[in-house]
Amino acid sequence: MIVCALFLSPLALADGLPELGDSSATVLSPLQEQKIADQIMRQVMASDDVVSDAEVNDYVQNLGYRLASHGPDPHQQFNFFVVKDNTINAFAMPGGVVGVHTGLIIAADTESEVAGVLGHEIGHVVQHHLARMLAQQKIDSVVSMATMALALLAAVGNPQLGGGAMMTASANAIQKQLDYTRDHEREADRVGLQIMTDSGFDPHGMPAFFEVLQKGTRFVQGTAPSFLRTHPLTTERITDVRGRVEQMSSFKLVEDSQEFYYVRAKLLADLGTPTQAVDSFRNNLQEKKYTNEAGQHYGLAIALMRKRDFTGAAKELDWLKMNAPVHAMIANLAANIAVAQNKPEQAEKAFITGLAIFPNHRALIYGYAEHLLALNQVDNALKLISDKQSSFPDDPYFYELISKAYTMQGKVLLRHQAQGEAYVRRYHIPKAIEQMDLAAKATDGDFYQHSIVEARLSQLRQLVDDPKKPK
Ligand SMILES: [Zn+2]
Repeated sequence: MIVCALFLSPLALADGLPELGDSSATVLSPLQEQKIADQIMRQVMASDDVVSDAEVNDYVQNLGYRLASHGPDPHQQFNFFVVKDNTINAFAMPGGVVGVHTGLIIAADTESEVAGVLGHEIGHVVQHHLARMLAQQKIDSVVSMATMALALLAAVGNPQLGGGAMMTASANAIQKQLDYTRDHEREADRVGLQIMTDSGFDPHGMPAFFEVLQKGTRFVQGTAPSFLRTHPLTTERITDVRGRVEQMSSFKLVEDSQEFYYVRAKLLADLGTPTQAVDSFRNNLQEKKYTNEAGQHYGLAIALMRKRDFTGAAKELDWLKMNAPVHAMIANLAANIAVAQNKPEQAEKAFITGLAIFPNHRALIYGYAEHLLALNQVDNALKLISDKQSSFPDDPYFYELISKAYTMQGKVLLRHQAQGEAYVRRYHIPKAIEQMDLAAKATDGDFYQHSIVEARLSQLRQLVDDPKKPK
């Protein structure tokens, strides 16, 4: 596990931001924060409530990293992920774990509105607000702190994600003390605004979205602003943010990315029944109710796929090919339609063409590898993955695909070794050890392969047993 050694950013302090609380007694070490983050990520990775769609994830991650790279602490690690939840919310955990609800992306009218909320959450992370509050609780171990953080997550409306950490009376009591204070909110707003402006987003997006949340307007199918519960929003706070934006002398206005419209449409296409989703996009197109026409055709295509109307989806794809700029998500849509229509040769061509233009579009790589495995072209699938894997060293799914391929070939050692590496990247070291142990005991594999597995196994065991690890 890579642990980035860092200290409380001197930049953040030099920036004139208030230092909250007594730092010597109430700050978690970066290593402790990272350990808590790993525990939370293990839960996140195992949760069915987390979006697994590569395009949605990559969009939010890239947006998050772009914003974070303009933050006051370039060494802070981040993990961005998306929770299947139609309420409008986002949350930040210690160690840079930031979750975004699908409802937030759906309810946003512009990319800057999403960026405003993400910037605010990044502000909480780089100012170590939750970490400091956890430190004040005098909880004695990192694991208990992670449990506490997860219990809080459950308390604020992500019960499944909270998972193993059952809500207890004491967690309830502590949550009261851990709610972000007004000072925290103001600080996160200030950092967030700066970050989003430095990243090229329109800073008006932040106060505009806060107003939407406060007024409780703009709800889509059961979306509700649960953001307000954890980030108390006062009129004074919004006025404060507005005032700051007005004072900004200049900022460049960057157009919303096409990804924003496609990702939002993809999430909308997943709401309600397939027929409802199709009707809603058709209706918007008919009444010209949209800011981005291509986004509507894309969403309609996805909704038609859900309805298993592949001919209809192919028609929308034709429209996009004729009228919208070349885009990785359209290339992926073309391949997925061909797969769904059971046209393997057309699918093969679509994947190859798409990857030639967008060699690192993760969804295309996943889709092509799955396609090759479905056609029993195991060697080709393994070659594709090994060609691409160096660009995604932390991606567990690449290892799961490899494990599947080796299972199909009956290779026991390699199968368990790959599954073990996948678990490492899902932050689950005990399960990784279990798999690596199975690999070590496999009767196939040569001396060289067994040596690698043995070395990795003892390395992983040290991670768990290391007496020097911080408690
Ligand atoms: Zn907040």
